[in-house]
Amino acid sequence: MKRTHNNGELRIQNVNEPVTLIGWVAKRRNFGSLVFIDLRDREGITQLVFDERLTDAISEVRNEYVLSVNGTVVERKDKNPKLATGDIEIAVTDVKIINSAKTTPIIIADETDALEDTRLKYRYLDLRRKPLQQNLILRHRVAMITRNYLSDQGFIEVETPILCKSTPEGARDYLVPSRISEGTFYALPQSPQLYKQLLMISGMEKYFQIARCFRDEDLRADRQPEFTQIDIEMSFVEEEDVWEMTEGLMRKIFREIKGIDLEPFLRLPYEECMAKYGSDKPDLRFDMECHNISEVFRNTEFKLFAQILEQGGIVQALAVKQGATRFSRKELDQLQEYVKVYGAKALAYLKYGEDGISGSVAKVLSDEEKAAIQTALQVENGDLVFMIADQMHTAQTALGALRQKLGHQLELIDENAYRFLWVTNFPMFEYSAEEERYVAAHHPFTAPNEEDVDKLMNDPKHCYSRAYDLVVNGYELLSGSIRIHDQELQEKVFEAIGMSMEEAHNKFGFFLDAFQYGTPPHGGVGIGLERLVMLLANTDNIRDVVAFPKTASAADLMSDAPSPVYEQQLDELHLKLK
Ligand code: ASP
Repeated sequence: MKRTHNNGELRIQNVNEPVTLIGWVAKRRNFGSLVFIDLRDREGITQLVFDERLTDAISEVRNEYVLSVNGTVVERKDKNPKLATGDIEIAVTDVKIINSAKTTPIIIADETDALEDTRLKYRYLDLRRKPLQQNLILRHRVAMITRNYLSDQGFIEVETPILCKSTPEGARDYLVPSRISEGTFYALPQSPQLYKQLLMISGMEKYFQIARCFRDEDLRADRQPEFTQIDIEMSFVEEEDVWEMTEGLMRKIFREIKGIDLEPFLRLPYEECMAKYGSDKPDLRFDMECHNISEVFRNTEFKLFAQILEQGGIVQALAVKQGATRFSRKELDQLQEYVKVYGAKALAYLKYGEDGISGSVAKVLSDEEKAAIQTALQVENGDLVFMIADQMHTAQTALGALRQKLGHQLELIDENAYRFLWVTNFPMFEYSAEEERYVAAHHPFTAPNEEDVDKLMNDPKHCYSRAYDLVVNGYELLSGSIRIHDQELQEKVFEAIGMSMEEAHNKFGFFLDAFQYGTPPHGGVGIGLERLVMLLANTDNIRDVVAFPKTASAADLMSDAPSPVYEQQLDELHLKLK
């Protein structure tokens, strides 16, 4: 029997039509001589009615059996407004049981209380649930909009190798041993970074790829060992060109999927972003800015602050509008504990109440200082001020974390808003205490700011780059940069991160060679597809938007990967287990 309609499609207008439907049994109810079955497929659910002529034929039918039926569309007496097909049902005239099903280990329903491990083990059943199907369909739509948008703009989709030479993005590589060439390994790409730059040298001008990337990291909740990037690279461009193209793509996706016209994208240089929000991916759905109010305490008698300032630290503060009476003693203690997680030693606060100023440091600060804080933060009666005195990075990030927490706790966040922000001018390097050297903050192919080239060797700490991130609602959606297109400069950057020319040539000789044959200026982005779909699907769980995800310990519970292999396989690969 070939189906005439899907299970989400029939309406009152179809009454009296003969139809053939196929699907899974979602529910069965017996009513004396009548049996009702909800038949489900990807598009929806349709109610079937079997009378006494057919009840024997379906006596064994249970949930998740696969059926096909012929019948006639009839109007329902008890309509179900919750169902798209709720006005009608099918009076079945004949039925074929295509397949039976064992009782499923998880219930196939929109809501589930099954353990995530069980859901992952039976992922193919979990994927029968509508919310997950919707997520995969959403992901498909985002990919299609992206392909169409970029193709219309003259971008060419090019696939790059999965078996390749290690591409440095700062994570550990997954390695694949070579059978043919004993003792050598391929790496799985952490991103197609080198290839996309080589494609610019090849003259492709505008490249994109919906690319799988692999990083062998200890997984955080929102990471997977393999993930997908919308990877884009363009020649003859500057930052503005890349941003304009990216904004256009985001606007199109949000318009088509959410029906929203996005507000203008904001921009902030990294240092300013850290100073104001204590994060390089701030949530701008609420205001509450942080301020450096160290000046207020230049001559303070308060020993603790004085000491920290002397040691080069700062006092970072934020005001909570009408916050003076919003927190119990216990809640304030909890906030103390919270900032300690971010390395701050203490959280000071002042309440500017109707009957004077109180709070943890009210007694130790002078009246002038309290007044100066009030001016610096534009404090009004009823406001609460939080302060953290520490080294700059700690003070900024701990107060930034507190800001984010308060945003949630005080319900300041507009859950329906999307606030996009370009964070620009990232530092070129980060100091790695572990390796006792500077490492590339983005990746070593990122161009330094033109005016900072001299600082590459002399003053790496203050050397800034042409890297940028696009941030939305507290998440990093993409990063990218304008690249180095000059071999000499590229070598200098390797030198600055302590890589000898020999090592550089060993690792990327092919890449450096290519630079000698006329490299165009170029730049691009890598957009996290999962992150984007998570945002559109309103979920914080990356596994909700991946068909066959792995657990936090990088295991696939369904197939049992990774798993041991046969001795013979190891032999062929010239490997021996330790
Ligand atoms: N390859 C970079 C990344 O994965 C993105 C880029 O610079 O285009 O973060």
